[in-house]
Amino acid sequence: MGFENVLATLWTSKAPLDDKALAHRHTKVVATVGPSCRDPEKLRSLIKAGVNVFRLNFSHGSHEEHLANLNNIRTVSAEMGAWVAILQDLSGPKIRISNVEGDFCPITDGQPIELRCANGSLSNAACIYVETVNPITTLKPGHPVLLADGLLELCAEEVHADRVLCRVVKGGRIRSRVGIAFPDSDVNLPATTKKDLVDLDWGIKHGVDFVAISFVRSAEDVLKLRAIINDKGSAAAIISKIERRAALENIEEIVEASDGLMVARGDLGLEVPLEQLPMLQRRLIEEANFRGIPVIVATQMMHSMITAVRPTRAEVSDIAAAVMSGADAVMLSDETAIGEHPTECVRYISRIAVAAEQTFAFEEYKLRLRNSDSYTVPDAIAYAACAAAIKTSARALIACTETGTSARLVAKYRPQQPLYGVSGKESTLRKMALYWGVHPIAIESTSAHSEIDTALKAVQGREDLPNGTRAVVTGGRPTRTPGSTSVLEVREMNFK
Ligand code: PGA
Ligand code: MN
Repeated sequence: MGFENVLATLWTSKAPLDDKALAHRHTKVVATVGPSCRDPEKLRSLIKAGVNVFRLNFSHGSHEEHLANLNNIRTVSAEMGAWVAILQDLSGPKIRISNVEGDFCPITDGQPIELRCANGSLSNAACIYVETVNPITTLKPGHPVLLADGLLELCAEEVHADRVLCRVVKGGRIRSRVGIAFPDSDVNLPATTKKDLVDLDWGIKHGVDFVAISFVRSAEDVLKLRAIINDKGSAAAIISKIERRAALENIEEIVEASDGLMVARGDLGLEVPLEQLPMLQRRLIEEANFRGIPVIVATQMMHSMITAVRPTRAEVSDIAAAVMSGADAVMLSDETAIGEHPTECVRYISRIAVAAEQTFAFEEYKLRLRNSDSYTVPDAIAYAACAAAIKTSARALIACTETGTSARLVAKYRPQQPLYGVSGKESTLRKMALYWGVHPIAIESTSAHSEIDTALKAVQGREDLPNGTRAVVTGGRPTRTPGSTSVLEVREMNFK
């Protein structure tokens, strides 16, 4: 793009991001539910501002609270006619310290402090009690110890039979049950805890659309959860949170076993040198893109907006970078859960995403993905649909889909035309809310013969497209079984 064009975009008298542009955002927004946004009115304003997926964070809150939130989300989104997915985020084996005397206490640079196994005692400025792992067998002299996502740092000096003697490198306030990390040790905890299994039961019972597994190490962690989900007849999709070094080492098998990834930058940033995080994020996005599974970039995207009314320049650039490098979704955590300006956050993140998408490297994607190593019929149809849309100057791509898979596969090729995922199944419509670029549209389940006509009509009506508008449609055979996409039609919409 010549610089004249850059200026033309900037100085154009017409608002560059009108409602239509915002409504056609490709990148999806995930927002964490919490006290700041859980009232129905707040949820409504968040959906209106652009939330596609709500995350229920099972590191906090009771089942009663989560159920109230889930019911409110369902009610409000139904009233609004919006397809919004629910992602249950299992807490996993996050290592925490015990409660602290008086809930928090200061520790100062240079002071000595002990680490001991939790035994019911309260932590204080002299001794921190560690839950879940034994610091004595975990640490060696010289190892760093990070608290509260790295805000506080200790260094292990002497390992004794009953305690580890540390020195405070970076002091601050330790709070009850804050996270503690041992980045130089190989803490090999299974990704699913007893609590997670109970929580998962709850999620399946209440029909969550996605389950996120924290601290995944290997494909086995994913497959174990998959077996439970399948056993109970649930269709929940599994998102693997990449936040451990072991996960990076096994990334290919994890991607293979998962329905989606989350770049969990909070904990991942404790496991790897922070300066490596941007490159890792890019590579993880590429891995997911290549497989055609959704990838969410998470944590601190709008951190300053927990209190501030505007994002920092660095945050704006970070979100744009995630979008330009191919993320399906960007996520807000504390910003919407406990922040002061949840709706403004969502408004900003939507606008930033849309603006960044205007320079999205569609052409590069086509080259990058043509050789992706999937040689199935549905993948071939998805690729051919994108090519046909270009060659026939189609104005829309439509995937008629039972499970959402075919819409996801079309999205994998990152088409520039608006993409509609049309289905008669509510769980599928909700699931598609997370997929890059897919606009879910509901139709009555019909006999498959008329499915393509029904879909064309639904899209034409919703977008108010003139008769004669061309669309490329994919679908299954008349006797369709899920995942059997084999039909590609180039059609005109003539239903007005
Ligand atoms: P968490 O996961 O917020 O559940 O820790 C996200 C992250 O680690 O970035
Ligand atoms: Mn995490």
